[in-house]
Amino acid sequence: MRYLSVSLVTLAVTGAAGAQTPPAAGPAPLILVKAGRLIDGRADAPQSGVGILVEGDRVKAVGPLAQIQGQAKAARVIDLSQMTVLPGFIDAHTHLLLQGDPTAASYNEQLLYESTAYRAILAARNAKIALDHGFTTIRDLETEGAMYADVDVKRAVDRGEIPGPRIFASTRAMAPTGMYPIVSDNWELELPHGVQPVDGVEGARLAVREQVAHGADWIKFYSDRRYYFGAAPDSVLHSWVNFTDDEARAIVDEAHRLGRKVAAHAIGSDGIAAALRAGVNSIEHGDGMTDSLADVLLARGVYWVPTVTVAYYVAGPRAGVWGPMVEHQRRALARAVKKGVRIVLGTDVGGFPWTELNQAKEFEYYVQYGMTPMQAIKSGTSLAAELLGQRDVGMVAPGAYADLVAVAGDPLKDITELTRVRFVMKGGVTYVSP
Ligand SMILES: [Zn+2]
Repeated sequence: MRYLSVSLVTLAVTGAAGAQTPPAAGPAPLILVKAGRLIDGRADAPQSGVGILVEGDRVKAVGPLAQIQGQAKAARVIDLSQMTVLPGFIDAHTHLLLQGDPTAASYNEQLLYESTAYRAILAARNAKIALDHGFTTIRDLETEGAMYADVDVKRAVDRGEIPGPRIFASTRAMAPTGMYPIVSDNWELELPHGVQPVDGVEGARLAVREQVAHGADWIKFYSDRRYYFGAAPDSVLHSWVNFTDDEARAIVDEAHRLGRKVAAHAIGSDGIAAALRAGVNSIEHGDGMTDSLADVLLARGVYWVPTVTVAYYVAGPRAGVWGPMVEHQRRALARAVKKGVRIVLGTDVGGFPWTELNQAKEFEYYVQYGMTPMQAIKSGTSLAAELLGQRDVGMVAPGAYADLVAVAGDPLKDITELTRVRFVMKGGVTYVSP
């Protein structure tokens, strides 16, 4: 109860209204947002002097300020005329239920010594952190042993009990028996699983059905493990593939049959190739991407979610192959950008602590790796919405949710501006004010 009342007080202080209660009879409140500069998530160029008319939780109109002002005489005004306004950001790879796992010990600590209830409380805090950083939508790619608690966090956000982004949940993820932590030499102990152990074609279909029944919007499986570089002259990053082709295809087929898309953790080239054979919708991490695999992504419209921020974070503590993997990914990603592969922003936050790094740092890496600032922005807005199959997020356009952020400077000149959001609105409710 304490947490709930604190969050409501925060909302009241920041001028929030509307989302906490069912819409009252009568017209929805109108808000006129004056944007000095608008990057709408879709257009290649920004616009200046823009009016954004918000009605209830949606954008009603966008256009030259004078014109929009004419239709909005009674609207409350939010003046961002000295700022750049963008669509709320989308992080397509998060772990609300995880607080950083640079080492096996840090991972085991959470699964062995923290209750799911405690982890869910931290997840609620993390949801607020995401929103405060401008991320109004996330795809949360598995709970790491916390069962279906992501769906509970999502429900609490949707019901207005806690502040947080729109959440696309994937619940438990899947790996075959013995191929995902926690594993131990002590066979007398049954230790918690970081995923749902899944074996065989029938087991794969049953697991998809169970996860969908418990609220999974997405299905995730671990395509590979044990990463290594081939001996010279083979510079390819290899891996051990987890599932048989029949098992992986059964996961994807059953998920698609139930209207869910599939994300595959695939780091080595072997794991990426196996995931592509199975027909997945997104490749997560993809450090071992080769030119020929990138061509397959391009041809089939598969998205790549690179999670560069976590790659840098874990490279030191994990040592070994994890350092060279970062460099391999940097070169592969630069080539994939040139090819036009659909690269969607994902950070793997939770793999690093939510409290330590701002997820928006990922935008900076993409620009360092060869994207234009506008390409990087689209990767975390409209292109991410496309991956999610959502038409009402990731853009500032009539009919879309009124999910807006604003920064003081020009992110097209300095992409790091995106790590300093001054204003956040989700569904017409203001959560961060200048
Ligand atoms: Zn992850």
